[in-house]
Amino acid sequence: MSGQINAFEMAQKQFDTVAKQLQLDAGVSEVLRWPMREYAFRIPVRMDDGSLKVFQGFRVQHNDARGPNKGGIRFHPAETIDTVRALATWMTWKCAVADIPLGGGKGGVVVDPAALSVREKEELCRGWVRAMWKNIGPRNDVPAPDVGTTPQMMGWMMDEYSRLVGEYTPGVFTGKPVGGGGSLGRTEATGFGVVYSIREAMKRINMDPKKAVASIQGFGNVAQYASIGFIEILGGTVACVSCYDRHDKKAYTYSKKGGIDPHFLKSIADQYGTIDKAKAQDAGYQVGDADAWLSAEADVLIPAALEGQINGDSIQKISKGVKLMAEAANGPTTPEADEVIKKNKIFDIPDFLCNSGGVTCSYFEQVQNDMNFYWHKDEVLEKLDQKMTSAFHSVVDMAEERKVYTRDAAYMVAIDRVVKAMELRGWLSAGA
Ligand code: GLU
Repeated sequence: MSGQINAFEMAQKQFDTVAKQLQLDAGVSEVLRWPMREYAFRIPVRMDDGSLKVFQGFRVQHNDARGPNKGGIRFHPAETIDTVRALATWMTWKCAVADIPLGGGKGGVVVDPAALSVREKEELCRGWVRAMWKNIGPRNDVPAPDVGTTPQMMGWMMDEYSRLVGEYTPGVFTGKPVGGGGSLGRTEATGFGVVYSIREAMKRINMDPKKAVASIQGFGNVAQYASIGFIEILGGTVACVSCYDRHDKKAYTYSKKGGIDPHFLKSIADQYGTIDKAKAQDAGYQVGDADAWLSAEADVLIPAALEGQINGDSIQKISKGVKLMAEAANGPTTPEADEVIKKNKIFDIPDFLCNSGGVTCSYFEQVQNDMNFYWHKDEVLEKLDQKMTSAFHSVVDMAEERKVYTRDAAYMVAIDRVVKAMELRGWLSAGA
């Protein structure tokens, strides 16, 4: 999925760098650099044309020392056990850095969801739950949406689980539709969380948000709300967004003089984030090639697509004016690109900090499910802002105190909390 770089090797490499700096015990490192449990299973689905098709499914539970495993399910044709392992590992660090009482997990299915009918999608979602239901649950492992999955899919999955266990169990999946056990604000949460962390970073580096120009890769849920928030919360401008066109099977960059209008682009995009090129052109948008977003005149780059996009080659293309990199995607930056970011003194908000708003709101959703009492949207977003702001400053304080790169500081905060939970639970002791 990420070209030459294996995402799981990348996740392990990032961890190893920090484990060395922390002089972490070799045995403890060995526990943390691998997932605790992994499931691979086959999901048969009766297709609309009468044929039976079998899909490959995965769930990886990386570490649950701090609480139930938590993390999305991704439907993507290039999913592999290693991408899921990497994403599960990053979820452990994400929940720890956000300081929510959850562990890390991730699931996947090798499939292009856009190629399925609604009925086939529902069958696949229910099949995923039938394969996994004994190993997930509100106190065990709680999946959510990610690339290629939607709130409606979470609704079907929660329903299938509830049927199998014989009782309504909304807290087993998060990111459900509002009115079907979902939380207000969950749709906006990841993108707005990215914007809250950008706001705090701008304070640290003395950047005026109103004069700031962002360039964004992707136009899925996270990119859509990151662009809306960048304009409406910060008062900045979004020069362009790049988006994968599933009809042409390639990406384009959409830009407009004076900045793009994310509400308009959202209104002409399908549920997978493919923008209608002809309608955009009619409305005066320029359509450039896939990489044009990288070299656009911007102060802030927001990779909000897939892993491995900011790598040794692509980092060479970025405009000289970039001062801030806000990693809205999971694992967008390779270790090779990290060296260039450090050298050029670009302030980097690492992925599992920057995009932790989604899972933080998922945690709020679970809390509301447990209480069976639902909060107003303002209350959800206010709590989200508080959590994001405090996570951001704990990482940047650590970076300043130890004079380390922000990604390493985020790992330090997270590893410290996970190791402490393992110690407190007696997982590392010789026996009392
Ligand atoms: N898929 C999102 C992520 O990567 C959200 C996970 C969740 O809400 O559990 O953070």
